[in-house]
Amino acid sequence: MLHLLVLQLPSLLASRTCARTATSSSRAAASMLASTEIGKQGAAKPTIYFVMGGPGSGKGTQCEKLIQSYGMVHLSAGDLLRAEVKSGSAEGRKIAKIIEEGKIVVSETTVGLLRKAMSQAEGPFLIDGFPRSMSNLQAFEAEMGPCEFMLFLEVPLSTPSTPSLRPALVTDHRGPFVRAHARSPRSQVSEAEMEKRLLKRGVSSGRSDDNAETIRKRFHTFVSESMPVMDELERRGVVHKVSAEASADEVYSRVCETLGRHPRPVLPKE
Ligand code: UDP
Ligand code: MG
Repeated sequence: MLHLLVLQLPSLLASRTCARTATSSSRAAASMLASTEIGKQGAAKPTIYFVMGGPGSGKGTQCEKLIQSYGMVHLSAGDLLRAEVKSGSAEGRKIAKIIEEGKIVVSETTVGLLRKAMSQAEGPFLIDGFPRSMSNLQAFEAEMGPCEFMLFLEVPLSTPSTPSLRPALVTDHRGPFVRAHARSPRSQVSEAEMEKRLLKRGVSSGRSDDNAETIRKRFHTFVSESMPVMDELERRGVVHKVSAEASADEVYSRVCETLGRHPRPVLPKE
């Protein structure tokens, strides 16, 4: 159930850079409703498509492609947080530190930024890079209702120091033994590939977290904090996995196929 969505006056650059596809009608509706409240009993719940995947799995790239063809409002949780950092606010300084450490910003902050951005458009929303912890999921669902669709860009990942990875029974010249975590050669290749992509992006992105040390921490956070969210949503049957080990165009055609199979497919742009 959608409890409360308080509309606030647009004050952040974030809302403009992140809600890139707000149509003129949705902008008009948002400004008409500004400073009122929607979402109380009876208000329609906005359609939300979440997009998740490990660091460098191509979430941003796929979302850019999606909003060109479909009438969705793209909200990148990471972009909203970076915009808050750029604003120079006290909150922004706290966020900057957490991002540099490859950790996850407190749920109240991220959900607050999403709530504000969502209040300025009608949707359907394409929310990228969120929820990345169980706390994120709980905080968002408490306000907006249950997550109904998660597109998961899958790239096999392993982080050697991550204790939460499943133990594996392996055999070598000493015979069978249990290794604390499984590392297939394929997943090591994928992790290296994503690291390469991120380091390449770091040359021009200016992002404080696109450096080798933070990238390793982000992988670790993803496996230990974000994968449990995927597991939970998978149990509920709302995760739609797409293998992201291919060219951006190939992955995009898989994404479109997956969206088309969804019982409530988002409409292509007119
Ligand atoms: N982040 C966060 N909560 C979110 C989204 C992002 O704390 O809901 C922080 C986190 O530190 C993450 C960083 O912002 O590592 C960058 O997120 P983004 O999704 O932009 O990066 P990606 O995972 O695509 O590399
Ligand atoms: Mg991103």
